[in-house]
Amino acid sequence: FVIIDNQDFFHAQFPVYHRRVLLQFTMRRITMDPEMNTSISSIRSQEILDSRGNPTVEATVLLDCGITGTASVPSGASTGIHESQELRDNDPKRYKGKGVLHVVEKSIPAIETLLKGMSVNDQRAIDRNMIELDGTPEKKVLGANAILAVSLACARAGAIASDIPLYTYLRKIYWPDVAGWILPVPQMNVLNGGKHAPGSVDMQEFMIMPVKAPSFVEALRMGSQTYHALKSLLLEKKLPVGVGDEGGFMPKVSSHEEMLTVLVDAIRLAGYEPGNDIVIGLDPAASEFFENGAYMLKTENATLTSSELIAHYQSWTEKFPVVSIEDGLSEDDWDGFVDMMKKMGDRVQIVGDDLFVTHPDRLTKGIELHAANAILVKLNQIGTLSETADVISQARQAGLKTIISHRSGETEDAFIADLAVACNAGQIKSGAPCRIERVAKYNRLLHIERELQSSSQFATFSFLR
Ligand code: PGA
Ligand code: ZN
Repeated sequence: FVIIDNQDFFHAQFPVYHRRVLLQFTMRRITMDPEMNTSISSIRSQEILDSRGNPTVEATVLLDCGITGTASVPSGASTGIHESQELRDNDPKRYKGKGVLHVVEKSIPAIETLLKGMSVNDQRAIDRNMIELDGTPEKKVLGANAILAVSLACARAGAIASDIPLYTYLRKIYWPDVAGWILPVPQMNVLNGGKHAPGSVDMQEFMIMPVKAPSFVEALRMGSQTYHALKSLLLEKKLPVGVGDEGGFMPKVSSHEEMLTVLVDAIRLAGYEPGNDIVIGLDPAASEFFENGAYMLKTENATLTSSELIAHYQSWTEKFPVVSIEDGLSEDDWDGFVDMMKKMGDRVQIVGDDLFVTHPDRLTKGIELHAANAILVKLNQIGTLSETADVISQARQAGLKTIISHRSGETEDAFIADLAVACNAGQIKSGAPCRIERVAKYNRLLHIERELQSSSQFATFSFLR
């Protein structure tokens, strides 16, 4: 053993590699100590920026044994009206009112007082206590952003204290009966529209899904190569190649069909067979263009009823390899969703995002009505890890597919990658293979796949024709 003191350790000349080895060794010593105290000793937080340059919350949970866990929360732009609420300062002098200093100065200290002394391994009790302290269905007193940041930071600290990867830790808590490890099919949003890309088309997301890949690492390569083929096609057409909030290109074209056409061409140009190697998923985010009871498509200058819009989708699924449609209709258009399921639900993945907002009651209603056959899962729509996990289990029991999702405003936190593997979700949505806050999740999945080696499998997608 080499004994070094603090000064040596932090000296710039002390090799980084040695520092890492030493740190890992020390961590292991701490975590292997049976007397190790996993009680929460303090919680710190900070206002940081998300990928759009807006403030968001980062929380760090410190345990008595010295271990810390840090997490930060994302934020949506096309937010569903039924989501839990983020608490923002509304001070027009700071960040256009989007600051989160109230969360940092008031909510987190209140949560710290509440949780101090609890074992970090008691994740369900931690989440339950925060829900009770807030006391509102929308979590608007403490703020869903405050509650979720602490919820996720606790899970991270718990995993580190148990000396196991986060995905294993989450599996143990929430899905102990689930066997095997499945790496998810990525839904990569390579063409952005709607609120994420002003000036592009009305519909929000055009995603590629590399379904015929032997592994996640290969799926990611297929997606990235198609993304670059798409860029060269757009350049050829003299269309701009700037990117939207989720890293996809945002060309100004005259119809949604043109977007689909260029996407299929890009898949071919990259050397893949559309509909076989790579399929297409859409997220129109229809609540955003639903006005006065009608769907207003400015791109085509058309005003449509639910059934007319469904007819459009039907024709697209016949002309293009579109196999998944998320929020094809507005968030409270239950009749429309039921109609869409009747017409296409046997061959197309019908996904509820704003429709369900990761909420058990809305999911229950959707299951009873047969309004969708898949759910998009977003941690910050409901606001705690435990509630999110329960919604995933509820969906699975009812036979719905699950897609774990990022938000359009993201941070470098890759928590959702571990969550997707922990529950064997089968699909993940994390934007284009571009912009580090998107790629961080995909890169984390690469690490997980490598770590699991032959004990993991790449997911199969079941809506292929
Ligand atoms: P949002 O978009 O994060 O802006 O809500 C993502 C989505 O609609 O899926
Ligand atoms: Zn969506």
